[in-house]
Amino acid sequence: MRITDIKTAVVRGNFDWVLVRVYTDEGLVGLGEAYWGAGVEAAVRWLKPVLEGENPLEIEWLFSKMMRHMSGGNSQAGTMVAAVSGVEIALWDLAGKALGVPIYRLLGGKYRNRVRVYADSHHGAKPEPSAWADRAREVVAKGFTALKFDIDNTDPARFLEPEAIGLGRAWNKSNLRPLSAAELEHMVKLVAALRQAVGGEIELAIDAHWGYNTLDAIRMARAFEPFHLMWLEDPVPPGNWEAMARVTAATTTPICTGENLYTRLGLRDLIVNQACDILQVDIPKAGGLLESKKIADMADLYFMPFAAHNVCSPVGTMAGVHVCATMRNFYLLEFHAQDVEWWHDLVIREERLIQEGYIAVPEEPGLGLELNEDVARAHLAPGFTYFEG
Ligand code: MG
Repeated sequence: MRITDIKTAVVRGNFDWVLVRVYTDEGLVGLGEAYWGAGVEAAVRWLKPVLEGENPLEIEWLFSKMMRHMSGGNSQAGTMVAAVSGVEIALWDLAGKALGVPIYRLLGGKYRNRVRVYADSHHGAKPEPSAWADRAREVVAKGFTALKFDIDNTDPARFLEPEAIGLGRAWNKSNLRPLSAAELEHMVKLVAALRQAVGGEIELAIDAHWGYNTLDAIRMARAFEPFHLMWLEDPVPPGNWEAMARVTAATTTPICTGENLYTRLGLRDLIVNQACDILQVDIPKAGGLLESKKIADMADLYFMPFAAHNVCSPVGTMAGVHVCATMRNFYLLEFHAQDVEWWHDLVIREERLIQEGYIAVPEEPGLGLELNEDVARAHLAPGFTYFEG
């Protein structure tokens, strides 16, 4: 079996999902998804000459070949790695179909029959404790047992009424200005309202989206300690594991980070220095399934749980399910599309993908799903074709 072509389709959900198909001379086609972003779709097509004529089952070697092709040496980050990740996932789908087994089987077999999902819930309709509590109850009513809210509720146009919470001035997270006492107190009220609304059985995570300086991140994490969060995510900007380590060491609130990093080399410092409590990796961005499995294994040496960041369509999400099923230290997989009503309809499966906050690990060959062509075409992003050319 030889690879004959690679084609793409970009479907517009809450992100522009970059779907990838790898074609072969035997008629088998593999389906994958790369993390969204400018230039990713073009980078996927750029990989076509690297793969044409190759045996699609030599996945690890093809991964190295694609990574090598991306730069003079070995590209370790960015759009190019996201593109390689999407192709790598399509190769696993192809391999599973060719061999008649689900992907998880090819990655070493599974630790679990279903994968727990947490629901990214953004925030309440207003930056007020009662609105946040309402939103939390609404999400729990859908069957989710773990939720994430965004605490950096500071976009003036969308969310913040500075006068309402005593800030007096608008800001955005690009200036890392110090956190006022009023704002910190307000954040604590929001988190307290969440915990009171859902009780102790529901897991709660808070995402800070890299918005705070190191000392403020520590103040915030300590202030949240009474609410026993599942984690506080990205309290300081990415890239400096030593600053993250300082936050992690200063609080009992678990610190989670990693969604901006790529490959084993990119995640290594966080892991070996134990700079966070929970490692978060975006699988179709950081290098695909096998690279993520290797990252998880490295984290497992330090008994560090692996949480999967995920903003994908059902295609990339299901790819994550397969590899997460094989990780000893797997914790949770993100679901980021509560507000996309047709998310489940993008693929054809007998059962609804997410049920009661879990996704069952499929037993069908490959990913275990196919695209619903009508739904995908109906939501094609402007300027892109449906697997043509
Ligand atoms: Mg995040």
